[in-house]
Amino acid sequence: MKKTISFLGITLLMIFNQIHAQNKCYIYLTFDDGPLNGSENINDIILKEKIKISVFMVGEHVIKDKQMDTYAKYYDENPYIDEYNHSFTHANNHYEVFYNDVQKSVNDIVYNQNLLKLPYKIVRLPGRNMWRLNGKSKNDVSNGIQTADQLAKLGYKVVGWDIEWQHRNNDGTPIQSVDEMYKSVQNLCNSGNTFTKNNVVMLIHDEMFQKSWEESELKQLIDLLRSKPNYVFEQMRFYPQ
Ligand SMILES: [Zn+2]
Repeated sequence: MKKTISFLGITLLMIFNQIHAQNKCYIYLTFDDGPLNGSENINDIILKEKIKISVFMVGEHVIKDKQMDTYAKYYDENPYIDEYNHSFTHANNHYEVFYNDVQKSVNDIVYNQNLLKLPYKIVRLPGRNMWRLNGKSKNDVSNGIQTADQLAKLGYKVVGWDIEWQHRNNDGTPIQSVDEMYKSVQNLCNSGNTFTKNNVVMLIHDEMFQKSWEESELKQLIDLLRSKPNYVFEQMRFYPQ
């Protein structure tokens, strides 16, 4: 009888583990456009909290002054931060013109890759939510498609995002509440309505770090997500290939 019970127990445990494993959802916290003023907080916070994040770097910001270069060096040394490509010029924020010249936009990104000595060929296009990964592709608009295709041919993984936490430009306060974001992530994890099932890429802006960390909405969201054992934070290089 005892044997039967322990056998039953082990079987139940195995089933539980299997369900548990199936429910795992990988969350990628990604930050664009750095380094920027205020990015200095990111490094300290991430070291303290030990959460894996991805930053998409703009070369022009890195070489702007000594301070920015120092921030980039902090990132290099931070084991929880992975740096990826977000172009050299960020299209000077004139996206139409940038992508109309396909070769120029590709060169800008390749230049950034070499300048920053980025170890992974992972790029997020400035101003575009486009994907080229595992033979799958997704575009938000048509302008930029050829650039994305060209980069894929050069061996780059082009990654966009599944959900954006938007903020107000004047003071950096988030538009969606912590609760709204949390529910959206839960829905995305369960629905399969993401570029890859059970994987949620979140785009967050550095402005979220303007407040003190302890009272920031970002900390609240991360704490909520971390309380769920089936949610795992990962960097983009671990995204399913
Ligand atoms: Zn950007």
